[in-house]
This record gives sequence, C-alpha cells and structure tokens, in this order.
Amino acid sequence: MARSILVVEDEPTLRETLVEALEADGFRVTAAGDGRAALERFRADHPDLVLLDLMLPEISGIDVCRIIRAESPVPIIMLTARGSEVDKVVGLELGADDYVTKPFSLRELSARIRAVFRRGEQANATASASVVDLGSVHVDLAGHQILRDGVEVKVKPKVFELLAFLIRHAGQVVTRDQLLELVWGYDYAGETRTVDVHVHWLRAAIEVDPAQPSLIQTIRGVGYVLRRP
Ligand code: CA
Repeated sequence: MARSILVVEDEPTLRETLVEALEADGFRVTAAGDGRAALERFRADHPDLVLLDLMLPEISGIDVCRIIRAESPVPIIMLTARGSEVDKVVGLELGADDYVTKPFSLRELSARIRAVFRRGEQANATASASVVDLGSVHVDLAGHQILRDGVEVKVKPKVFELLAFLIRHAGQVVTRDQLLELVWGYDYAGETRTVDVHVHWLRAAIEVDPAQPSLIQTIRGVGYVLRRP
C-alpha cells in the first residue's frame, strides 16, 4: 500500500502544490491548514510521515511537533523559514527527523522524504541485526562488544550505550540535550560537557583518526551524527 503523508501548511497555494506533487510521487496525502486541524488529522489518519510548517495559526508547529512526538515515533519533517538556525535546533530538539528550509524545490523535498523513509527501514534492519559493520569496526550490540580489526576494544558502559544509540539513529543528527535525555536519562538541559567527553572517548575507540572523525561527525551548533561508511 502507498505510504501516507500528512501535509500541515497554512498557506493555501503552497499546501495545494505540496499535496499535488506528493500525490504525483505516489503517496496518499491528507492536509491540514492549522495546528488544531493537524492534530485531528494526525489522530484520525495515522500517517506514515508528517510534513509540518513551523509557523501555523491556532497551535504552532513547535507545539504540534511536541504533541505528536509524545504520542508517536512517526517521522516528522519541519518546514522552516530561510536561514533560521534557531528553528532547526528547536525542531530537532523537539524530535523532528529533518527540516527543509523555505523556499525549497519539490525535488529537494521529495529526496528528503525518501531519505527519512530509507533511514526508518535501515533503523528497523539495524534493530534486528546484532552485529553492525562500521568498516574496520564491528559492533556487537547484543554482546556489548566492539571489535576493531578483529581485536576487542574496551570502553566504559556509557560510551557503549552512546555508540549503540548513535548506531540506531545513524544518519540522523541528534542534539547534546537529546543524548543526555535518551542515553543518560536526564530530563533537563545542561551538563552537555558530559556528552562531549563521552564522544571524545568513543572517537578514540573507533575512529581511524579521532582528530578527523569520519564515523561520528560534529554538526556545529546542533550536535552529532553517526555516518555509516
Ligand atoms: Ca506558515
């Protein structure tokens, strides 16, 4: 069955354009023009992905994102205003999977949507695979073991948990606050230095050149991303 997408956009022309383009791409599409309608449609339709404008009447895109994320792991792509770094960070902290900056081409948007779906499939495959291949490094998630060129590398338990989390979210940028909350279990912002220190130890364990990391990359101003080779 075709995958379904909920388009949330208050600007009618853009909304219609998005609906038509995504339908032409083979998706089943529903749409909402404000935050309140978005939540109603989301709960009624259970879409496979939500395309969410940040600036919305009734309930803001930020609140819609937070509410949906509390109810569901559905992929969310935020549509943000041009060059708004704050919006990107806020969106990712609220659990959006990606963001597209306006104005965007339909081709770019289509590529992002497919990438998010592909990551979901890879994450499912990774969740069922015990040993993950990162080039010269093999990680046995079930056995809590890292092998580098066949030799076991010992790391602190928290470092391994951090690696396992990044592997499960490979290709997805995660903020320091998200890592603190989801790996350390802190429910407040701050203490992000802890994350940086553990990333430093992790790089020393798995990167060919920890000073020029290729697996765990820093996204300046946002956080980290693990890129599989
Ligand atoms: Ca808007």
